[in-house]
Amino acid sequence: MRVYVILPAAGLGTRMAAGQAGSSAPKQFLELRDVPILIHSLRAFAAIPEVVEIVVAVRATERARLEEQVTEYGFAERVRVVDGGDTRQESVGHALAALQCSEDDIVLVHDAVRPLIDPATIERTIEAVLKHGAAIVGLPAVDTIKQVERTADGAIITATIPREYIVQAQTPQGFRCGILKRAFAEADADGFVGTDEASLVERAGAQVAVVMGSPMNLKITQPGDLALAEFFLTRQGH
Ligand code: C5P
Repeated sequence: MRVYVILPAAGLGTRMAAGQAGSSAPKQFLELRDVPILIHSLRAFAAIPEVVEIVVAVRATERARLEEQVTEYGFAERVRVVDGGDTRQESVGHALAALQCSEDDIVLVHDAVRPLIDPATIERTIEAVLKHGAAIVGLPAVDTIKQVERTADGAIITATIPREYIVQAQTPQGFRCGILKRAFAEADADGFVGTDEASLVERAGAQVAVVMGSPMNLKITQPGDLALAEFFLTRQGH
């Protein structure tokens, strides 16, 4: 059994743009303690002994920059770069098509913009995939969750969803390669587009387990997130 990793990194990071005036880098290339966010994420997975290959999906215009960084940081041997697509699902689909994995191998998909993922959580995800066939990292909701209807006057609450039933999906999301490839083929055939891989696997009828995540595994999305990530990294002594 081998473990493959897919890092979708082809987003434009438009929500970041406002706070990063003058920066031409998409958020995955912004630096955290002088190291690009994407390289932090790559490092975390490269440190896992079971990982045989990491495929990164980036925009064609970022490819040269990424390939340079991959060599600079010493990951060239285990990292392959592919072109991303217009949606996260398309980006992951391109990477998946490039993988030579067999039915029982494990594929972990991780947002390139979650650089604080820790090795213990990655290992727990792999163990849960071995047991269940599919598992994602998730964080139990601590806030009360409202369902809303968007109107011209703003959001109006339509229901309160008991939070004990709510988990916020993080990454990594791990699957047996065969299950993931079938789920992607079905979604493609049906024209379904999801915001994570688990949603494709759920609709294909497979059970997906949840591994406990952490608020530190944050997805760098808005300008303030970068400062928070710096704080967490400093506290970890990096
Ligand atoms: O945009 P979102 O927050 O869902 O992005 C999650 C991850 O998916 C990011 O690492 C981003 O770079 C990636 N992504 C991608 N291709 C896209 C859109 C997002 O690889 N077309």
